[in-house]
Amino acid sequence: MKILVYIQRDGDSIGRNSIEALAGAQKFAAELSGEVMAVCLDSSLTEKLTGYNISEVITVSHDGLNTYSPLHFTAAMEQVIADVSANVVVFGHTYQVRDWAPRLSARLNAPFISDCVDADGSTGLTGIRQVYQGKINTNISAEGLVLMSFQSGAFRADSVETGSAAARTMDVDLSSVPATIRPGERFKESKGGVDLTRAEVVVSVGRGIGKEENIPLVKDLKESLGAELGSSRPVVDYGWLPHERQIGSSGQVVTPKMYLAVGISGAIQHQVGMKGSDNIVAINKDPNAPIFEIADYGVVADLFEILPKLSQSIKDYKS
Ligand SMILES: Cc1cc2nc3c(=O)[nH]c(=O)nc-3n(C[C@H](O)[C@H](O)[C@H](O)COP(=O)(O)OP(=O)(O)OC[C@H]3O[C@@H](n4cnc5c(N)ncnc54)[C@H](O)[C@@H]3O)c2cc1C
Repeated sequence: MKILVYIQRDGDSIGRNSIEALAGAQKFAAELSGEVMAVCLDSSLTEKLTGYNISEVITVSHDGLNTYSPLHFTAAMEQVIADVSANVVVFGHTYQVRDWAPRLSARLNAPFISDCVDADGSTGLTGIRQVYQGKINTNISAEGLVLMSFQSGAFRADSVETGSAAARTMDVDLSSVPATIRPGERFKESKGGVDLTRAEVVVSVGRGIGKEENIPLVKDLKESLGAELGSSRPVVDYGWLPHERQIGSSGQVVTPKMYLAVGISGAIQHQVGMKGSDNIVAINKDPNAPIFEIADYGVVADLFEILPKLSQSIKDYKS
């Protein structure tokens, strides 16, 4: 079983989603007794990739791949997949992948199990994805060549196994690809440069804050921690914070080192956006709040008592 992972560049480095997808592929490969390979369309990523536990890094260099082009990416990947006789092609579920992987799926007549939160190789090739707004998981099995993408946070980037991989470059023929699609300016999800997906610490506020006038309490805490501010959906629906702060199935998906949930119950639609965080701390006055089921540290308390003291203690500690 050959598992080929597509590595997407983000800025000057490998995209976090791609590292997570690589970690997922390694787990999947162990269950399937398979072999993991990686393909990148950018030679600046090759050296870093050879430090992971994969059998081979394939670098495809071609002028037509220097900027994003769904037609060129599709044609190049089609040739790589044929060259290595891949059985499974794994992607991080990014906006870019969402744009061109379905095209590749159609071209290859291969099923695309998209937006998976896990994969199970113990009973064949099975992708696990959420349905009904994250209320239940469904297992989708497929045979033959299969494309699969993993949701951000499905696997932990720091669980990727390191090792030593061989590297080679591959030439592709893109001469017959029409230049009918040209990239525009790159889409940025958040206005004003807010990208919660890169934050190391997120302090997130929920309906428990009661009213807009109380939001500064949470802002004070996030500033003392040097964190980014996130929120649950009701806080956005009420207009207390802009949508770019929303975390969850209809907001951003974050995986910080610490996620501090303040007055958030932990509905599944919220969990989808933060359960991949390294450490989850929850402050909630209800000991039965679902957030405590996934929290590493839980504080059962009235946030209006805790927050001012917590902010002050952190400031004292730092000074
Ligand atoms: C299609 C769809 C998409 C959705 N997408 C999202 C999404 O992207 N993100 C999202 O967050 N939600 C989303 N939701 C909404 C989701 O179902 C929940 O309604 C929402 O997450 C609840 O937000 P909350 O935890 O802030 O509020 P609540 O569920 O009302 O929880 C408030 C919590 O605050 C606690 N609390 C109250 N007062 C205090 C106090 N003084 N001190 C301490 N704790 C206190 C309460 O005990 C309670 O647990 C979506 C729903 C649907 C149907």
